[in-house]
Order: sequence, then C-alpha cells, then structure tokens
Amino acid sequence: MDFLTLDDIDIHGQRVIVREDFNVPIVDNQVQSDLRIKAAIPTIKQCLASGAKVRLLSHLGRPEAPDPKYSLLPVAQRLRQLLGQAVEFSANLVDTQAQITLYENVRFFQGETTNNLDLAKQFASLGDVFVMDAFGSAHRAHASTVGVCEQAKVAVAGPLLVQEVQALNKVMQQPQHPVLAIIGGAKISSKVAVLKALLAQVDFLIIGGGMANTFLAAQGLDIQQSLCEANLLDLAKEILNEHAEKILLPDDYIWFDHKIMDIGTKTLAKFKQYIQQARTIIWNGPLGVFEDPRFAHGTLQIAKDIAQSSAYSVVGGGDTLAAIEQANLTTSFSYVSTGGGAFLEYIEGQKLPAIQALINKRKYDITTH
Ligand code: ADP
Ligand code: MG
Repeated sequence: MDFLTLDDIDIHGQRVIVREDFNVPIVDNQVQSDLRIKAAIPTIKQCLASGAKVRLLSHLGRPEAPDPKYSLLPVAQRLRQLLGQAVEFSANLVDTQAQITLYENVRFFQGETTNNLDLAKQFASLGDVFVMDAFGSAHRAHASTVGVCEQAKVAVAGPLLVQEVQALNKVMQQPQHPVLAIIGGAKISSKVAVLKALLAQVDFLIIGGGMANTFLAAQGLDIQQSLCEANLLDLAKEILNEHAEKILLPDDYIWFDHKIMDIGTKTLAKFKQYIQQARTIIWNGPLGVFEDPRFAHGTLQIAKDIAQSSAYSVVGGGDTLAAIEQANLTTSFSYVSTGGGAFLEYIEGQKLPAIQALINKRKYDITTH
C-alpha cells in the first residue's frame, strides 16, 4: 500500500479520530440496517485494545443544516449494543473524557462538503491521530475525509478501508479468469463509466435491471412502457456492437403494467451457467424492482447463485446491499463492500480523493522527517 495503516503506528494513550461510514437507513429513530456499523466494530476494538481513546466521525444522509431526522444518536445507541460498552454522544466538536465518543453528523457543521479549512482543523483538534476507515466516503473530498487528513499530525488508513481496497484490487488487478461482472440497477446513465471500465477487463458482462431495457430497445425489442433512457439508445448500440461477444442480456422477463420488472426463469438459468463457470465475480445493482417482493425473485436468485459458486465474489452498491440483507446473504460472498458510489468509482479506476490524501500524507511525512 502507498499509505500508512493503523498497524504501522503506536496509538497507546492517544486520542484517535476515526472516520467511519455510518450512513445507514433510519426510520423512527431506529437503525434499519446495521451492516455498516458492524463493519466498523473491529476497527474500534483494535483501537481500544491498543490503549487508545476513540473519537468517531461520520455523515448521515445529505442534510444541509442540523436536522433531527439526520441525527447520529440512533447510531450511538446501536454502537453501545454492539460493543457492550458506553458510547458518549456529542453534538458539539469538543474534547471529551470518554473512552468512545461519537460526534454528531459531520454534515450538520458548515463547511463539511466544501472542505472548509477551519472545520477540518476543528475535526483534527479532536485527537492526536486521524484514521480514515470510511471507504464508502473516500470518493468525497470533504472536511471530514480529505481536510482532516491534511490537518491531522498523523493520518493513516483503518483496517476496514484497507480490506476494501485489497478486495477490489484482487478482482480488478490480477483476477482469476473467467471474470464475470453483473451490473444491474435502474439506469445506464449513472453507470456508463463503470460499464466501459468493466468491459475493458472482464470476460463476460451480464446486464440486468432497468438498465438492460435500453440495451434491449437498442436491439429492437418492444419494451413498451419499461424504464428506458431514449437519449442513450445510440450509446447502447455502440457498446453492443463493440462488445457483442462479452455482453449477456436477459431474454425473458416478468412484466407488470406493460413494464419489465424482473428477469425471467430462462434468463436465470442462462446467467447461472456463467456464474458457475466464473472464477471471479463482481456484482453491483439489482436485477429487478426488488423492493416489491413480487419482483425480487431474479435478484435474490442471482444472489444465491453467486453465494453458491466457488468464485471469488465481490458485491457492492447501496441497493444491492439492501437486497442481500433482505435475503440474509450478507456473509455468503467473498467480500461485501460497504461502499456505494466509492465502490463504483474505484472499479472505474478513478483515484479516490481521501485515499490520495493518505498517500500524499505519507509522502509529506517521509520528506519532512
Ligand atoms: P445500487 O445502489 O446497488 O448501485 P442502483 O441504485 O443502480 O443500485 O439501482 C437500484 C434500483 O434499480 C432499485 O431501486 C430497483 O428498483 C431499480 N430497478 C431494478 N430493475 C428495474 C427495472 N426493471 N425497472 C425499473 N427499476 C429497476
Ligand atoms: Mg442505489
């Protein structure tokens, strides 16, 4: 790795600021999915076991000002349960005596998303060491990701971030072939760059979900009132022409109200063959409107097929995670990334700003000490 990690430094007796991604769904003050909170527990425990005090930072949603709906208080409660110990919750950016402190949503503070220098300094003043562990937020150059990293005396990557990067490097850099990517979800427009990056690397690409419709329309299928991006029909044709031998599209569908809502059984059987033969699988995006149980079968069956295969499998994406959680399959893959947007940008081959900041920090440390 080009950056320092938590294992490289001695944090005994130090106050450690840890940026996590606790951006979890909350309804009526209750955490609906604690996958991301659970993923951070080993990092917190490692800090405590090394004799450090832990100061946690995270964002939740996209509020532009303090808003009780987006308070991290329910996350503090879940952390207490998962850790079995006290977690102080602080609405202000002030030092505390507690062993573990979770600060309020970083987006409640002016200047978070513009990476304001004063705010970054305030975050950095909460501890002696900064640990960037929020892979899911690493694609944003905000005060609590990049700014605090630059302002902290020492900044290192946390174990969760390291794990995520290693898992993604494993599938993207020297994967075992055949490599199969499965991309679903609503729209092509949000994933054009990912599709292109994957097509350059993988042996087979399954396209499902709403985004498959535009490709099907490009092939001349009458998709009736299905979700379609008419402005991308030419792009879809171009991609199909260029990579015809790699791309696999659904060939039967579950219709509802003149719309394609899910993939059919013939398609599932075809996709399963490719899943069984693959040695590396990358999956992002539901294959149907899985939020409605009537149209969840395709997504859940694909999840089960991947879970049963012996391939090294990496799964990521906000809605994809929700789907596999719904099916109780979160532990059935080689790696489940907690990142949504960051996962996709990393696969595209983009440099994530918070990871760059860690790399720069190390260069700076080496040249000045
Ligand atoms: P992720 O968050 O995992 O990257 P996306 O956000 O790209 O996934 O897409 C998820 C959404 O795609 C879901 O809300 C799902 O209902 C929708 N979707 C999947 N298949 C279809 C379809 N056939 N028609 C309309 N929407 C679909
Ligand atoms: Mg999504």
